[in-house]
Amino acid sequence: MMQPFKPKVKAPNPKELQVIQKILAKYRLTTVCEAAACPNRAECYARQSATFMILGNTCTRSCSFCNVKSGRGERVDSDEPSNLANAIAALNLAYVVVTSVDRDDLDDYGAAHFAACVRAIQQRVPEIKIELLTPDFRLHKPSLDTIIASDVHKLAHNQETVRRLSKSVRPQSDYERSLKVLEYYAKYSHAKIKSSLMVGLGESVAELRESMRELLDVGVRELTIGQYLQPTPKHHCVEKYYESAFFEDIKEEAFAMGFEAVASGALVRSSYFAEELGR
Ligand code: SF4
Repeated sequence: MMQPFKPKVKAPNPKELQVIQKILAKYRLTTVCEAAACPNRAECYARQSATFMILGNTCTRSCSFCNVKSGRGERVDSDEPSNLANAIAALNLAYVVVTSVDRDDLDDYGAAHFAACVRAIQQRVPEIKIELLTPDFRLHKPSLDTIIASDVHKLAHNQETVRRLSKSVRPQSDYERSLKVLEYYAKYSHAKIKSSLMVGLGESVAELRESMRELLDVGVRELTIGQYLQPTPKHHCVEKYYESAFFEDIKEEAFAMGFEAVASGALVRSSYFAEELGR
């Protein structure tokens, strides 16, 4: 029987890890990289790139694939915008991705805090390119308008999986709502619009193609496709490991469909080589 394909994960270089972790500790910041135990830390840290997670590290949702802690949202840290800007300056980043846990407990779901972080970064590092990977803000239009008004380089929201699996994989989210958020971003912002899909959760390739088509139809032009890896045994199991040839093929298909930038590979994550995608 053919052995399932299991990607080899390179351990982060302790020195580079220390540099980033010291700065994160100094400015009391969290990264998705650490919170989600991302397999690409070695590469990203070596390029002094990281994806910052704002609004605490406790999410008010509990997606079955995600390693981030779920529970009551934490107190919003009013120093976070300036701390984030200082850390980004200290890391001398040219491109930064800022994301957050979901905060269904906040009136605006965290949109004003996102905008405050963007303003602080733009004031501190004017030449930087900012990508926001946002929650769905429950399709609350004033919150989406706040995000759009922050005028960043790229706006992303992850669809994560195909329509049939969405309810079991992202129980507090909604497949159609995520499409509407992306459509709203594409309609009202100048930013490039990006989304991400994981494979290996039980989807068929036909379902994957359908989801790609639906993302394209609402205005998404940048896409990442990566292999789901189980963070712990209590998380969603891996239904399938895809061969590397599959990622090459689906990448070609995505371009043929009309996507302008595609990153596809077993270790690809939504912020992987974010600064390269769609350059
Ligand atoms: S919304 Fe889901 S994927 Fe995002 S941080 Fe929360 S649990 Fe994780």
